[in-house]
Amino acid sequence: LTSALTEVAKNLGPKQRITESSIKPALRQVRRALLDADVNIDVADALIEGVKKRNLGDEVIKGVSAEQQFIKSMYDELLDMMGGDSKSSSPMGGVENSAPAATLAVGEVGNPAVILLAGLQGAGKTTAAGKLALYLKEREADYSAVGETDEPVVATKLPKRNRKVLLVAADVYRPAAIKQLEILAESIGVEVFSMGTDADPVDIAKQAVQKAKDEGFDTVIVDTAGRQVVDKDLMMELKNIQTTVKPDETLLVVDAMTGQEAASLTAAFDSAVGLTGAILTKLDGDSRGGAAVSVRGVSGKPIKFVGVGEKTADLEPFFPDRMASRILGMGDVVSLVEKAAAQVSDEEAKKMQEKMMSAEFDFEDFLSQAKMVTSMGSLGGVAKMMPGMGGIGADQMQAAERRLKKNEAMICSMTKKEKRNPALLITDTTARSRLRRIAKGSGNKFEDAARFISEFQRMRTMMSRMSKNMPAGQDPSMAG
Ligand code: GDP
Ligand code: MG
Repeated sequence: LTSALTEVAKNLGPKQRITESSIKPALRQVRRALLDADVNIDVADALIEGVKKRNLGDEVIKGVSAEQQFIKSMYDELLDMMGGDSKSSSPMGGVENSAPAATLAVGEVGNPAVILLAGLQGAGKTTAAGKLALYLKEREADYSAVGETDEPVVATKLPKRNRKVLLVAADVYRPAAIKQLEILAESIGVEVFSMGTDADPVDIAKQAVQKAKDEGFDTVIVDTAGRQVVDKDLMMELKNIQTTVKPDETLLVVDAMTGQEAASLTAAFDSAVGLTGAILTKLDGDSRGGAAVSVRGVSGKPIKFVGVGEKTADLEPFFPDRMASRILGMGDVVSLVEKAAAQVSDEEAKKMQEKMMSAEFDFEDFLSQAKMVTSMGSLGGVAKMMPGMGGIGADQMQAAERRLKKNEAMICSMTKKEKRNPALLITDTTARSRLRRIAKGSGNKFEDAARFISEFQRMRTMMSRMSKNMPAGQDPSMAG
C-alpha cells in the first residue's frame, strides 16, 4: 500500500507532453487490440489517427505515462462511438457510473409495449425473445454495485421488473421454430401466443397484441422469421407487421460473430424497416467485440442488449464502457489513468505523504489512503502498473487485498474517537476490551484485531523514523 502510493508520487516529475515517439508502443498495442477485436482495418486506422491528432502535444497528467494517457483517450473515443458517455461513465466494468447505453420501451396494462425482433436466420432471435421475456420478468440487477467478478449484484431489495410478457410465434415458415419458442417459454414460465404454421404473420401479431390488451399483458415480444440473406419478402413482411401493430421497438438481432458485417446489416435493416436498436448476440466464447464498435458507428442505432450464452439467463444490457475495456483489453490501464487524473492530484498525494510521515497518521487516514489505492482498480491491477511491483505474485496480491478488506472492516467497527486516536487501542488501559469489541463487530477474531493494531503501530513508527532521518525541507514524496 505504502509503496504503491510512493510510486505514484515518484512519477510527479517535470511536465511531459504527448509526442509521436512517447506513444509509439501504445499505438501499436491499440491497433493490434482493435484488429484482434475484428474492427474494420480502415475504421481502426481512422480511429487511431483521429485520437493521435487530437492528443499530440497534450500535457501528460502527473502520475501516468504518455502511453497510458493516449490509451485513455482511445478508450473515450470508443466509448463515444458505442453510445456511451465518456464524461460520466467509468471503465472497469462499471465500478462507478456504468450505465446501459439505451433503455427499452416500457408498456402498461391495457397499453402494452410491443417489441418486434428481426434478423437473419440463426442470429438468435428466438433465443433472444425468450431471454428478453425472462429479463423483463425477473428481479432488477443492481449494476451500480458490481462486484469483483464483474457480475452485477442482484440486490434482493430491488423490486422485480415483474413485467407480464406475451411471447408471439410469428415465424411460421419452420414448424420447429414455434416449438422452440414454446419450449423456451415454458422453461421461464411465460405464455406464448401461436396460431400454427398456416396463419399469416401479420395476423398473428395483430391478434396477439389484441389478446395482450384484453388480458392485462404489459409487454409483447414478437419473434419473426429470418432468411439466410436480406431479401425483399422478409422486409415486406416486417413492414406489414409494423404498419399493423405499430411496435414501440423494432430490434435487430445480430450475431456478433459476423464481425464487421454486423454493422452493414444493421444499416440495411434500418433503412428498410427502421430500427430502434439492436441486440448483439453470441458475445460469449471467443466472439470479439468489434461488431459493437461498428454497429452504432455505421447505423447510428444503439445496441440495447447483448447475448452472452445459450441459456435464457444469458442476456445483459449493453454497457459501452465494459465493451470498450474489453476491446482494448486494458481495463487496468484505463482505470489507472482515469483515477490518476480524477483523484490523485499531486497535492492530495503529497498531503497524504506528509501526514504519513508525521505521527498524526490515524485510522481515518489509513482508510482514505486505502480507498485511494483501491479506487485505482484492484490492488493487483495497480501493482501491475507500478514499476518494480510487477513481480509480486497473484496469490500474494490477493492475500494482500483480503487483508486490506479485513482491516477496513475493523476500522469501520471503531468509534470515531478510536479512529482519530489510535492510542486508545494501543496503550490505553481499555485497549483490550476495545479490540475485543471491534473484532466482534467486524466478524473477526481478537487475534486479527490485535495483529492489525500492532502492524499499524509498526507502520507508524517506521514512518516517523523515516521522516526524522530526512534532511529538513526535503520533499517527502521523493523519499524512496
Ligand atoms: P433465430 O434463427 O434467429 O431464431 O436463432 P435461434 O434463436 O434459433 O438461435 C440460433 C442458435 O444460436 C441456437 O443454437 C442458439 O442456442 C444460439 N444462440 C443464440 N444466442 C446465443 C448467444 O448469445 N450465445 C451463444 N453461444 N449462442 C447463442
Ligand atoms: Mg427463430
